[in-house]
Amino acid sequence: MCGIVGYIGNKNCVPILINGLKRLEYRGYDSAGIGILQDQKSLVIKNKGKVTLLEERIQNLNLISNVGIAHTRWATHGIPNELNAHPHSNHDGTLFIIHNGIIENFLVLKKNLLNQGYRFNSETDSEVLVHLIDSFIKEGNDLTKSVQLALNEVAGTYGLAVIYSGEPDKIVAARKGSPLVVGLGENENFIASDVSAILSHTKQVVYLEDGEVAVITKNSFNAKTIYNKEIEKEVHEITLTLEEIDKGGYPHFMLKEIMEQPETVRNSLRGRIVLDEGTSKLGGLIDVIDRLINAKRIIITACGTSWHAGLVGEYMIEQFCRIPTEVEYASEFRYRNPIVNKEDAILFISQSGETADTLAALQEAKMKGALVLGICNVVGSSIARETNSGVYTHAGPEIGVASTKAFTSQLVVLALISLLIARRKNMSLVDGKALAEEILAIPDKIESILKLNDKIEQIAEEFKNAKNFLYLGRGYNFPVALEGALKLKEISYIHAEGYPAAEMKHGPIALIDENMPAIFIAPKDSTYEKIISNIQEVKARGGRIIAIANEDDNEIDKLVDFSIKIPQTIRMLMPILTVIPLQLLAYHIAVKKGLNVDQPRNLAKSVTVE
Ligand code: GLU
Repeated sequence: MCGIVGYIGNKNCVPILINGLKRLEYRGYDSAGIGILQDQKSLVIKNKGKVTLLEERIQNLNLISNVGIAHTRWATHGIPNELNAHPHSNHDGTLFIIHNGIIENFLVLKKNLLNQGYRFNSETDSEVLVHLIDSFIKEGNDLTKSVQLALNEVAGTYGLAVIYSGEPDKIVAARKGSPLVVGLGENENFIASDVSAILSHTKQVVYLEDGEVAVITKNSFNAKTIYNKEIEKEVHEITLTLEEIDKGGYPHFMLKEIMEQPETVRNSLRGRIVLDEGTSKLGGLIDVIDRLINAKRIIITACGTSWHAGLVGEYMIEQFCRIPTEVEYASEFRYRNPIVNKEDAILFISQSGETADTLAALQEAKMKGALVLGICNVVGSSIARETNSGVYTHAGPEIGVASTKAFTSQLVVLALISLLIARRKNMSLVDGKALAEEILAIPDKIESILKLNDKIEQIAEEFKNAKNFLYLGRGYNFPVALEGALKLKEISYIHAEGYPAAEMKHGPIALIDENMPAIFIAPKDSTYEKIISNIQEVKARGGRIIAIANEDDNEIDKLVDFSIKIPQTIRMLMPILTVIPLQLLAYHIAVKKGLNVDQPRNLAKSVTVE
């Protein structure tokens, strides 16, 4: 998420920082800010919106300074506005900080700081850091020690940089969970969330690891742990080009986003599972949880990929929470005068939080008095603001138009919501713990599926010229069949349809011949035997078959042309795993066809028209 850049040296830092922020824009953000030291005084300028706006605002101010830090924010706590934008300052404006990540225990820290007389200007979790560090400076510690002491009290993730007018010759930076790299130059040094921000100045870099604190002056750099242990860091020479680096070394954003799913799912889960109690903790539902548990019906409303996530959500909620659940396209919901009661809870799912159809459906439902909840990725987005409550997916900015990591994070959030409701209703502690443990194991399983990338690329080579595809699954994997088909359509322009496998015999089977590949999602669950029968039916008609099956399933290879073997998990979580090979398959087919994967024709990332 978002970006950090810092400079210390002989040059004016202002244009270097602004250009650095521009290089980080691809990461997605909602606000931008800069903080510099000028004549021993600090100066902070920040705004909601683009880096160019920030640039315009500072153009005539004649800012000149040799040390500064700058930030693009992707809001997690508090809406995008000027007050919540970074840098955040202490009361006397001598110390300021930029932060990427989430401080999970910020409420506890904030309470303590409020008791000590600290005032808060923003709604962010990040602001606790500046006051906490300030409190240690006031006790007589130097800046580095104060940062270390503060970070010993912090739970969560951070990439951060701090400047203090009392020690104007240095920037102190630290990392845990959010990437941070130090750039080494001649009489100048840099800090950045990734090398693209500083690559035009230096190719010598040092990557910080979790729990490390870096002290950067214009001529020196050293790293310690937050426990003050000295560490030797290796200097790396960057060989990639700027263009390659924006995409984290991947040729497309879509592949980068597919590959980062172990991490994005971890981010969606962070701080939200309470293993001892076999439940989940979702701050955004605290105020409405009783209403949600007692809802007579849940309606999930969404479009596109989010609608597919909603279908999986329906299965989860009905299985575990025993609340009747329906899923509806937002556009249909809006225009058909739906029956909505005050006892209904309506869940709106949207990656961008700006999807026009979903927003309009939300307004309709709100007017009818239902409890309206959002599942959005973009913090402070319209849907997030207009719902009573909700849960952010925290998957980080998604740039590729075809949604991948946002989908898996939506599924994770739906699983967490189901666990929360189920435990408050009829699920035992033992079952809750077992489910929570399965959820926590998902990121590692995704990691192992991603290792099959080369094999999936070979399968793509075999099928890249097909004109049609059929995707088939049952139960929880029926929505995955729809999602797999949608991914292929979106980026490869190949006609594809998803069906519940049992429906095949009611029509689509007429299409089967050697030119119609069929993809079966066939993990070992209660419908496995039935899906094997469907595979036999396609095979008998000469169809070519790809199966997504479990690692221990050796039998299936006798029936199908290609198999992709994935780890086992419980039924409800299987879609989070089965969708990954389908994302990769669509991606590789589109690349082999020479298509623009990140910006497919006719499609927009955030669909803000109805
Ligand atoms: N959690 C912080 C905030 O909401 C930082 C977000 C970011 O990573 O930009 O301000």
